[in-house]
Amino acid sequence: MTSKLIENTIRPDVRALSSYHVPDASGYIKLDAMENPYQLPERLRNELAMRLADAVLNRYPVPTYATLKQKIRATLGVPEGFDVILGNGSDEIISIVISAVARTDRRTVIMAPVPAFVMFARSAQMAGCDFVGVPLTADFSLDREAMLAAIAEHQPAVVFLAYPNNPTGNLFDEADIEAIVEALGDTGIAVVDEAYGPFAKASFMDRLPRYPNLVVMRTLSKLGLAGIRLGYLAAGAELLEQFDKVRPPYNVNVLTQVAAEFALDHIDVLNAQADAINAERSGLAAALSALPGVTVFPSRANFLLVRVPDADSACSQLLADKIMIKNMSKMHGLLANCIRVTVSTPEENTAFVDALRASLETR
Ligand SMILES: *Cc1c(COP(=O)(O)O)cnc(C)c1O
Repeated sequence: MTSKLIENTIRPDVRALSSYHVPDASGYIKLDAMENPYQLPERLRNELAMRLADAVLNRYPVPTYATLKQKIRATLGVPEGFDVILGNGSDEIISIVISAVARTDRRTVIMAPVPAFVMFARSAQMAGCDFVGVPLTADFSLDREAMLAAIAEHQPAVVFLAYPNNPTGNLFDEADIEAIVEALGDTGIAVVDEAYGPFAKASFMDRLPRYPNLVVMRTLSKLGLAGIRLGYLAAGAELLEQFDKVRPPYNVNVLTQVAAEFALDHIDVLNAQADAINAERSGLAAALSALPGVTVFPSRANFLLVRVPDADSACSQLLADKIMIKNMSKMHGLLANCIRVTVSTPEENTAFVDALRASLETR
């Protein structure tokens, strides 16, 4: 009975999907999700607790989110004359943007260089769009000619460019991105996804006034607040007005709103944590590069993409040692035998290097 019900109701492509798998991490050193390993200092957490106690939980959020948006504009470099919309994580913003362009009367193409963040393709599929992935070059640069040719051929409504890119960790060449934005012109929207901006210290935000079809998406997740789920998209007023119609009116809850406003008042604390993680990244990269048969790719994010002799065996041995990382080797041909590891505290990084070294020796 149930299987008939599922067959009669649920879309075939949804039935065919496997769900986004998030393994249970209790008891593990968790280096698979690019989380900040540090919490807010206790003093700030106590202060936040008092703010949260005062949050008005019996009312719906005020859907303009005026104070939070004002703090985002003031703290995070949104240019004068530009505003933001908020999302329940940038994952929601990705689907808001795609929903706003997904047509029912003809094919709509969403494009990104690949390997890319998986939610670009998945959200496109959910909205009934075609996803076109254009392979990066062997050194993970944008293939400018291939991107421009694919844009001319497929006329994508949206091109997503993660800057730095996940899972490769590198920053694409600025001129390549600008060429793509210009090629899209008034036929497509370029979304520069700056989830790792706090680590890269590079941004397209200041280019918003130059390109009407450019929008910049960011999140507080990788900066240290993955649990509260807050993403935002900065764009010109005309595009924002349209995206805002697609956004569920109360999509950011009151607790998130209060916590985010508080965090932005203490953004220096989070930025200092990001700087500490950046400093750790150099040491971790050097330690990994010294291991036999291991290649570390340059990263401007809070993770490293690492090629090992045998990714499957490394991952299973790390799991046995209670260390969780991400095996990327099946995701794309360019990522053969690659693993992705979050840069964490000195202790956890050392535990990872030791366990990886041991796994290479017993292979
Ligand atoms: C992690 C990540 C996101 C998702 O961020 P949330 O705000 O937590 O939904 C978006 N884009 C990229 C490239 C990411 O790596």
